[in-house]
Amino acid sequence: MSITLAVANQKGGVAKTTSVASIGAALAELGHSVLLVDLDPQACLTFSLGIDPEDLELSVHHVLTKGLDPAEVIVATDDGVDLMPATIELARAEAELLTRTGREQALRAVLDDLRTGGRDYDWVLLDCPPSLGVLTVAALTAADGVLIPLQCETLSHRGVGQLLDTVHDVRRFTNRSLEVWGVLPTLYDGRTNHARTVLETISETYDLEVVEPPIPKTIKFAEAPAEGRSILRTSRSSKGAKAYREVAEALVRRGKRR
Ligand code: ADP
Ligand code: MG
Repeated sequence: MSITLAVANQKGGVAKTTSVASIGAALAELGHSVLLVDLDPQACLTFSLGIDPEDLELSVHHVLTKGLDPAEVIVATDDGVDLMPATIELARAEAELLTRTGREQALRAVLDDLRTGGRDYDWVLLDCPPSLGVLTVAALTAADGVLIPLQCETLSHRGVGQLLDTVHDVRRFTNRSLEVWGVLPTLYDGRTNHARTVLETISETYDLEVVEPPIPKTIKFAEAPAEGRSILRTSRSSKGAKAYREVAEALVRRGKRR
């Protein structure tokens, strides 16, 4: 059984990309087959997994707008996960998709094609761009669940409401079975009461589950992308790596409950 999870929050810098790379690597360690899809034209996920977007001739852009077979674009990475990489061309895909019929379904169709072509992953994680535009809506439409990384600071509130409105629309119009799997507290500084209070307020206000444990803020995360590997490989036993492993285990349990 395959589970597709969109990691979304229109706010930048909340650790969407870091979470996709790290949870992906942790799921691979647990023996699951994993595909990561880079849906951000900034291509940070692609870069952080050791692939220079400038060296790529084919990317997710060609799959979404030119009908290219996704299997031709997917690359294996040192983290034990497969990646559908992005390049800056994806920015154009966003504009091209805007005029297309069925644009919300574009990614879902691609993932269905992969499955019928015999490439069935246990997990597909979608790294969304920092907006609620076409690509994020396509990701939510293709997903079984959405995970919302959240930096626990006072103003993170408003963004969550907008994101949940979009989820609501997607459920209504394009993907009835989309479920919110919860918020994942990131860049968490447990020493401050403030972080805890914000987290409690947000989960109560929006009636959201909190996926635990929170991911601690540590300098190790700044170093991993430059090495082209996730923190699970660059600093195996760090607090951050451990937290992401536990989160991956929690997601596996949650997946079994579905
Ligand atoms: P997003 O994809 O939401 O824009 P990123 O995953 O790119 O966010 O993370 C933004 C920045 O924060 C990056 O420089 C990343 O290395 C850093 N970062 C992510 N998680 C942590 C953490 N737990 N502790 C410290 N820095 C982090
Ligand atoms: Mg990102």
